[in-house]
Order: sequence, then C-alpha cells, then structure tokens
Amino acid sequence: MELRIGQGYDVHALAPDLEMWLGGVRIDSAAGFVAHSDGDVAIHALCDALLGALALGDIGKHFPDTSDEWKGVDSKILLSKVVSMVKERGWEISNADITIALQAPKIAGRILDMRETLSGIMGLEIDRVSIKATTTERLGFVGRKEGCEVWAIALLQKN
Ligand code: MG
Repeated sequence: MELRIGQGYDVHALAPDLEMWLGGVRIDSAAGFVAHSDGDVAIHALCDALLGALALGDIGKHFPDTSDEWKGVDSKILLSKVVSMVKERGWEISNADITIALQAPKIAGRILDMRETLSGIMGLEIDRVSIKATTTERLGFVGRKEGCEVWAIALLQKN
C-alpha cells in the first residue's frame, strides 16, 4: 500500500452582515467571511490538504479568485471537484483532521453537522473525518474576532 499525506491552511477575514459558511454548514452569526467564494475557510483548508497530498498545487490554482466562474461558489462544489481529482488518480482518502480557530460564535454544537456534510461529500464513514474547534483565548486576529484560521491534514492511500 502506498500512502500520501497533505496539509492545508487558510484564513478568511470576518465582516458584519455576511453569511457564515463553515465546514459546509450555515452558522448562525452576525458576521461572515469575506471571500470571492462563500468563504468556507474549513473546506478551503481541507481542499489544500487533499491537493497537497498529490502535489497538485493549491485551491487558488484550480479555482482562481479572479474568475467569475467561482464567484460566490458553494465551497462544497469545490471540495467535490477536488475529491474527483483524488479518485481519478486512483487514490482513496483514508482520513482527514481539521482544526478551526474561531473566537465567536461558538461552533461546538455544529461540528457533527460539519462532519456529516464533509464525510458525505468525500464518500467516507464519519469516523474518518475529524473536526476540532478552538478559540485563541482572545489573542491575535482570531481572538479579536477579525478572522478565522483553519488547519487541515489528510491521508491518502492506494492499494
Ligand atoms: Mg480561502
């Protein structure tokens, strides 16, 4: 069996009166993410982890934020396209682990929804998709509620 590992990282700024999409679900929030797409920073980090495992570049290379085609796009569509790229090359996703740093709102109650949504898109059992959330104890740009930071890691296998 061959294995590949990839990691991804993304940040989006928060601004008032925007929808907040995170981990494929809509979060009830007074602020949302500034972005060319729907701003789902967790999906973007996950896509970069999957692309990174196959050395296929990053999400900006495949879905440029200068393109009208991807303006306002549902990031779940981007994830499904990246999953197709992985499968087309004969790889299977073994598992993914995502850490979200967000000061507010509290998202612990939505993590199961996110895991169900993302595992569904990737065609995986839910116990292969982990999502963890943390604040930064009010430190830094996350702590000042200026943005959200996400790290993701993914393991691929080929038999
Ligand atoms: Mg992004």
